[in-house]
Amino acid sequence: IDFNHATFKDFENPEGMSAYERAAYFNEYLDFQQERGQLNYRLMGLTPSGPTIDMDIPGYGGRKPYVCLVSNDYMNFSQHPLVKKAAMDAIRRWGTGSGASPAIGGHYEYHQELEDKIARFFFRDAAMLLTTGYTANSATMLSLLQEKDLAIIDMAVHASMHEGVRAKNSVTFMHNNIEHLEKRLKESYGKFQTVFVIVDGVYSQDGDIAKLDQIAALAHAYGAYVVMDDAHGTGVIGDTGRGVVELYNLYDKIDIMTGTLSKTFGHLGGYVVASPELIRFLKFQSRQHLFSVTSSPAVVAASKAIDLIDEEPDMREALWENIRYFKSGLISMGLDVGTTESAIIPVKVRNLAKTHEINSMLLHAGIYATPSMYPAVSKKDSRIRMSLMATHTRPHLDKVLNAFDDIRTKIDISQKESERQE
Ligand code: PMP
Repeated sequence: IDFNHATFKDFENPEGMSAYERAAYFNEYLDFQQERGQLNYRLMGLTPSGPTIDMDIPGYGGRKPYVCLVSNDYMNFSQHPLVKKAAMDAIRRWGTGSGASPAIGGHYEYHQELEDKIARFFFRDAAMLLTTGYTANSATMLSLLQEKDLAIIDMAVHASMHEGVRAKNSVTFMHNNIEHLEKRLKESYGKFQTVFVIVDGVYSQDGDIAKLDQIAALAHAYGAYVVMDDAHGTGVIGDTGRGVVELYNLYDKIDIMTGTLSKTFGHLGGYVVASPELIRFLKFQSRQHLFSVTSSPAVVAASKAIDLIDEEPDMREALWENIRYFKSGLISMGLDVGTTESAIIPVKVRNLAKTHEINSMLLHAGIYATPSMYPAVSKKDSRIRMSLMATHTRPHLDKVLNAFDDIRTKIDISQKESERQE
């Protein structure tokens, strides 16, 4: 494998190697990347999560503050005094752990209150808490999708949904492509017990939004159910921050909605919102829920963050002002930001080596972004992925815009479609 053009995927199962040989070979590659400053699995912790973060990345000039564009803590609620206080009060009252899985004695009042609050937030009757957003997606599909069922999934949905459907009947449709979805629905009509159409609200790599009105109408016309993960939309999209369901006013049309407490809600955890019968079924059928401990009392941090969505709408407005300013700045330089309509803003590069080079130039300039490449996106679609926070200031954003302005004089950043690298 040529390390210069390799991706993590190439090391999953190289021909003829044992598990330990694979690990050793992958370690060589990780060392290669680390020496070049290309590994984003860095030791953080010099300063807390925020619009800037101090890091000491070898080769980049010692400890210095970086403008942080890698966090999904969109409102920076993880640092909000009331959110921190809620967690500390809960720990004082309940301790640090819940001690058991929910079905054998780990389901506490604070879990139930949070589940009720999440359901109410989306004007629905029932919700269920899981320990991560990843688990919420995978556990839901692992429990619901059975042998005679089918999942039709947008090919850009998050890895956790793909994981949930992997061992069962599933087909993909081209990203947000309504004609292709209809083709899939027609092909499968009448052949399965249940058909689920699975989408994300906001897509995590392009930051674009599902055509949910058309998708829901079509799915329901063919007797299929809609499953939507709105991890990146909740708290950000919609006048009151209810996410993509609010944008389309489809609260009662999305059969199953999942989300996370780890992004806008500044904590850790996941949830599923659905009918009371379905939620009860999942609570007693989902192995990830039945045989795994529940969230710790500190999860009430997320409960406070949910309140803040309504109590501090100016945070959402500040985030949107940042999004508009930053996006138009990038576009005015001729950079390709794709179809984003959220706080996730990519700059498409479409060439792996150039993506690494640009990332390195950004680090030198004191900017921490994510170089995103296969398998997170297709091989031809490498990009610099950035996410904005409500607490980024104009000088932070100007620093990034100026850096791109400088970089583009040295590198042709956005490749033409015809020059995309395989
Ligand atoms: N869904 C989407 C769309 C995501 O981007 C992510 C994580 N980045 C998840 C789910 C998983 O959420 P969590 O980090 O809470 O496990």
